[in-house]
Amino acid sequence: MIRLIVIGALLYLAWRIFRTALGKGPANISQGRQPAGQIDDVMVQDPKCQVYFPRREGFAAKVDGQTHYFCSEKCRDEFLADHKAK
Ligand SMILES: [Zn+2]
Repeated sequence: MIRLIVIGALLYLAWRIFRTALGKGPANISQGRQPAGQIDDVMVQDPKCQVYFPRREGFAAKVDGQTHYFCSEKCRDEFLADHKAK
């Protein structure tokens, strides 16, 4: 009888851990396991003209080790010019 209770408690604990892992799972999984194609669908904001667009259609530029994405080469060039001017 005691073994049944222990097994029941273990099953309950396992279920709780499983549920906790499920609850936190999606955020963790999306952090690095996504194929490159899906990551490119992320919407980003052009820091120059504030327009939102899909990242894969943007123009990337690295500024101070941080990658920025722009809706057009014009915005990118202007942003880089502004940044250098500072
Ligand atoms: Zn722009």
